[in-house]
Amino acid sequence: ETLANQIAAGEVVERPASVIKELVENSIDAGASLIEVKAEQGGKRLMQVVDNGHGMSEDEASLALTRHATSKIHTAEDLFRIATLGFRGEALPSVGSVAQLELATRIEENADGVALTVMGGARQASKRLAMPVGTRVTVRNLFFNTPARLKFLKADRTEANQIMELMQRFAIAYPHVGFKLSLNGKEVQHYRAVADESAYVERLGAVLGAEFIPNCMEINSGDAQMRVRGWVGLPTLNRGSASAMHLFVNGRWVRDKVVTAAVREAYRDLMPRERFPLTALFVQVDPEEVDVNVHPAKAEVRFRHGQSVYGLLRRTLAEVLHGMGA
Ligand code: ADP
Ligand code: MG
Repeated sequence: ETLANQIAAGEVVERPASVIKELVENSIDAGASLIEVKAEQGGKRLMQVVDNGHGMSEDEASLALTRHATSKIHTAEDLFRIATLGFRGEALPSVGSVAQLELATRIEENADGVALTVMGGARQASKRLAMPVGTRVTVRNLFFNTPARLKFLKADRTEANQIMELMQRFAIAYPHVGFKLSLNGKEVQHYRAVADESAYVERLGAVLGAEFIPNCMEINSGDAQMRVRGWVGLPTLNRGSASAMHLFVNGRWVRDKVVTAAVREAYRDLMPRERFPLTALFVQVDPEEVDVNVHPAKAEVRFRHGQSVYGLLRRTLAEVLHGMGA
């Protein structure tokens, strides 16, 4: 069991940011409106994610640490219509097999919470504790029992940067959730929850920089089967790295060739080749139209009708870029 979890961990848990990604996705799936993340030494020494979601009962928490225990998929059919972010039931046991993990959680019905601990795959006795409704996951000493993998981690600062980029993506995709990030005890990001859609650009400005708001245009086109929405920066507002293009498919941040190619093609004659437009783009397709199961870390998707997605984006962007006088 521990070995199987460590093998799964090899796919899901690449670095501190991938642990935090799984934990924050769980918090979002649990309906949290505030998610606080802490990391020390680039996450290598400590990572903690605290949410105010619905929490788990002791039985649910215990099950959550068991491989392939997901409360989100019930039949094989469901695998083809994934609406929640998590679905494999692999994250918590994988992390628990390569680190020291404490899962503390409380549901509204109970006056107390419960804390479960796993050390390199071995379960310890559970404890009651006083805590607000929600879940707190603490991960210490990542890869302490797999030195070969520990060696592959980058400098603390590099790992910390990955965590900051990750949290920015969450902030863009989930404006109704408040996010805080502290690194080595110092708060480095605080995105307040945005109450309604009209305030969304405030969140975008907070993440992408204040100059984005007066220098971007909104796009929104398509139909119930396939829609592209988002905000695209003027060609003058470009960056030297592809990470300037924030792309989401059904709420999930992705690296996708089809979407990237459509965006770059639209801006092709408007900025130097090595520059990238600042964008926050959301492609929404029928869950049956996209396979999110391509990669365990879920950063890649496969569209059933990639050409249609490409075409819609390309046409929509051409229209607004033309409107910008470009
Ligand atoms: P998955 O997200 O793929 O279902 P995980 O291993 O990430 O698998 O989590 C296992 C289960 O634990 C989830 O299905 C969910 O029921 C529960 N869980 C995990 N994290 C939380 C959380 N922060 N709040 C409430 N429930 C959680
Ligand atoms: Mg999960």
